[in-house]
Amino acid sequence: MKYDYLIVGAGLYGAVFAHEAKKEGKKVLVIDRRDHIAGNVYTEEMEGINVHKYGAHIFHTNNKEVWQYVNQFAEFNRFTNSPVANYRGELYSLPFNMYTFNKMWGVVTPEEAAAKIEEQKRAAGASEPKNLEEQAISLVGTDIYEKLIKGYTEKQWGRPCRELPAFIIKRLPVRLTFDNNYFNALYQGIPQGGYTMMVSNMLEGIEVRLGVDYLEEKEELDKLADRVVYTGAIDAYFGYKLGVLEYRSVRFETEILDKPNFQGNAAVNYTDAETPWTRIIEHKWFEFGTQPKTVISREYSSEWKAGDDPYYPVNDDKNTELYEKYKKLSESEERVIFGGRLGEYRYYDMDAVIASALKRCRDELGK
Ligand code: UDP
Repeated sequence: MKYDYLIVGAGLYGAVFAHEAKKEGKKVLVIDRRDHIAGNVYTEEMEGINVHKYGAHIFHTNNKEVWQYVNQFAEFNRFTNSPVANYRGELYSLPFNMYTFNKMWGVVTPEEAAAKIEEQKRAAGASEPKNLEEQAISLVGTDIYEKLIKGYTEKQWGRPCRELPAFIIKRLPVRLTFDNNYFNALYQGIPQGGYTMMVSNMLEGIEVRLGVDYLEEKEELDKLADRVVYTGAIDAYFGYKLGVLEYRSVRFETEILDKPNFQGNAAVNYTDAETPWTRIIEHKWFEFGTQPKTVISREYSSEWKAGDDPYYPVNDDKNTELYEKYKKLSESEERVIFGGRLGEYRYYDMDAVIASALKRCRDELGK
């Protein structure tokens, strides 16, 4: 065997695993079927602006070890994510906080806001939330649910809110303070120079082959290494033999505009049901850009079908059950480690992917 590890996928999970294994003196080969590294965090320069080609990625974490870890590979700026919601031309602050409540109801104090939420929650009869709709109403009441959550969520997931798991909406903080910071995270920022450079630094000194599709050449590639770290979709690995796991995919329409400022913010969410896109990203604002032009991406959400890039696992009961069956199957693949958003079918944030790769790699290497 020429390599100790064949790592399938040059995204964050694969790059962290590769870096750690190499540090321990292992021989590592990384492959990716795309023609670039960095998976969905890939950034590409246009007009001097780092464009997040597969959607906005804002690094945020409460995990100091992970924060120190990524800071070895990039210097992070002080970007704070504060998306704006556009509901039929009305603008609201996100996440849900005193600015949002003031604009929605004219309330001035936290007590007034809390009372308004409580009143709407009671009128809706929300008790033990069993789905996203009930969870949302019990967190912020019906007005915010109708204007800022329902349309956006149903476009994003292509399913009624009553059929979606409650945990998705719990990703968003609700605050009775004037704080537009989208994340409850101690550490937050964007790697200066872009994510591609950060991942490239992780992969320094490691052999990477691009445009190589593992599942198409599995037999040959498996001969190259003792162990395989597979970060692709777990159902694809098994030829979908137990059924197809559902994902949401995303399509971007990216435009260069001959003006310095299009929307004054990195992210504007279109929360009505009629606008076909979910959000518009203006990439320069991730890095406080001063370029004369600007680059924007409209983001359209769609159901994943064969040939598309999978983005979001649909972690509802049906898919979770099917995933558990694939997971069982994966346990008999003794040479293979399954990891990452697609390999573990989990709605992972970047920091959680890194923590998971570090842990798995340390267990594997007996550290
Ligand atoms: N969400 C919403 N309105 C918004 C933003 C988010 O209803 O303006 C809901 C939606 O259901 C979404 C979830 O909150 O799927 C999580 O949002 P997040 O921003 O964490 O999603 P991501 O950035 O991972 O796409």
